[in-house]
Amino acid sequence: MLKVIGTALLTAVVTSFFWIWFYSSVPTSPPTVARSGSVVTVKPTKAPPVTVAEQIIVGPSGLAIPVTGIKAEELTDTYDAARGAGRRHDAIDIMATEGSPVIAAADGKVEKLFNSVRGGMTVYIRSPDQKWIYYYAHLQRYAPGLHEGQDVKRGQVIALVGHTGDASPSGPHLHFAINSMAPGERWWNGTPINPYPLLAGKKASG
Ligand SMILES: [Zn+2]
Repeated sequence: MLKVIGTALLTAVVTSFFWIWFYSSVPTSPPTVARSGSVVTVKPTKAPPVTVAEQIIVGPSGLAIPVTGIKAEELTDTYDAARGAGRRHDAIDIMATEGSPVIAAADGKVEKLFNSVRGGMTVYIRSPDQKWIYYYAHLQRYAPGLHEGQDVKRGQVIALVGHTGDASPSGPHLHFAINSMAPGERWWNGTPINPYPLLAGKKASG
C-alpha cells in the first residue's frame, strides 16, 4: 500500500514538473510566416529565419529533388559524363534558373561550407547515421544564417542555384553528389554513388 502511494506521489510530482517545463518553453509569440512562390519562410523569435519548400518532389528513395520546381522527368543522368582528362563527373547536374531555391534532399547536419576552384560555393551535409554526405555545388549564395553544425530538414532551403566555380554563366545548375562514407571518413572523402536513379525513380542510363 505504501508503495502504491509512493508511486502515485512520484507520478504527480513528475507530471507537474512536466507542465511547468512545458509552459516555460512555449514561445510567447507565434513564429511569423512569409510566403513567396513555392517556398515559405518561418521566422521564430530570436532565431535566423528558416525557409522551407512548400512542395517538394520525393523519389521512391525518400530523397527530395534538391531544386524547387524541377520534376523527375526533367532530370538527365550526367553521372558518367567525362569532366577533363580521365575525370568522371560522379554527380548529377540539375539545370535550373539562376537563384532557384536549393533544398536539402534529406535530413542531416551541415558538416562543411567550402569554396573551391571547381565547385565554387559548396555545402557538405552528412546524414544522421553518418553514412552519407550530400554535396551541393556552384551555389550563388547560402540561405541566411546557414552554418557548420546546423541541422537541416529535408525540403529546407539551404542555398540558391548559381554558377560559381567552373560552371558556365550561361548554364546555371546545381551539381549534386552523394557519397557513401566509411566510418571515420571526412567530408572530402567518400565513394560516390549515382544520385540519378534515386531522384528520378528510373534506372541509370548507359
Ligand atoms: Zn557537375
